[in-house]
Amino acid sequence: MTHARNAFGTPLLAGAASGPAEPVPPRPLAGIAASRRRALALFVACAVPSLVAAQTPAQTPAQTPALAPAQTAPLKVVASFSLLADMVAVVGGDAVAVHALVGPDADAHAFTPAPADASRLAQAGLIVVNGLGFEGWIDRLVRASGSKAPVLVASQGIAVRRIGKVVDPHAWQSLVAAQRYTENIRAALVAILGPTRPAQVGAINARAAAYTQALAALDASVRSRLAAVPPDERKLVTSHDAFGYMADAWDLDMRAAQGWSTAGEVSAADVARLIRQLKAQRVRALFVENISDPRLMERIAREAGATVGGTLYSDALSPPGTRADTYLKLMAHNAETLLAAMQPGR
Ligand code: ZN
Repeated sequence: MTHARNAFGTPLLAGAASGPAEPVPPRPLAGIAASRRRALALFVACAVPSLVAAQTPAQTPAQTPALAPAQTAPLKVVASFSLLADMVAVVGGDAVAVHALVGPDADAHAFTPAPADASRLAQAGLIVVNGLGFEGWIDRLVRASGSKAPVLVASQGIAVRRIGKVVDPHAWQSLVAAQRYTENIRAALVAILGPTRPAQVGAINARAAAYTQALAALDASVRSRLAAVPPDERKLVTSHDAFGYMADAWDLDMRAAQGWSTAGEVSAADVARLIRQLKAQRVRALFVENISDPRLMERIAREAGATVGGTLYSDALSPPGTRADTYLKLMAHNAETLLAAMQPGR
């Protein structure tokens, strides 16, 4: 795998080309330094609580007025949704303070930004998005915020999957793609923090390497356990089409009641078609999602005489302190849930 050193060298919201939003022009590395200075200056004026700050509270300007903020304040990162925020927090450690615009159990497809979100972006030193058309609302929000922060498209460089002609944005459901996300995040943080805080670069690189290893280890473990599952047992149904990257990576036959987005209604004809398919084929289980109303899937399962195999986490973490509150825990939970549903004799 080749690693792009400069995560900002390509059109930053390249993924938006496949979606309805207009792409934001790339910002050169020179722009990072300027925006960093601006973001750090703003940090002094307004310390914002965040996931990372909650774990490792930074000293507030009020307590340490004499310290130079450029050396002490964590880089303020705004990530579009909770999974990305977790990845940035893991790689950045105490060098970053991360905020997720779309939080746990919330649906990024149906997100409506609030004025506070624009304010977060205006104060950010780095904005991290998934791209691939996932955040249809982000370009307008970044423009409206006036933010000069660089925008990292975390998915850049992955092997893009398509559903018909439409790009499937849910690349994080592949642990292989997640390793690319990690590298993109690492490269961006090093590019921004390296010039002024070189002492933090080693720790960022080390955390990224350890995280990549953990992602690869989980992937290998799931693959070896899946090897024992015959092809006939691998038919599964989810509510929205969010698991295609996972299905491709792990050779599963996963269908969905709804398309790649949760927006829009599922038609009665689609439901009837799915129930016919479920009855005709030996589908092991249906799954509900943490971001969607489970009642549709429960109804389909009932009418098709199939079972609900549990909850899968698609586009959002679970709340802090619960079973899928980090990306790694989310992927491990999804894998365990699928493996349990595919056990012969179940
Ligand atoms: Zn989705």
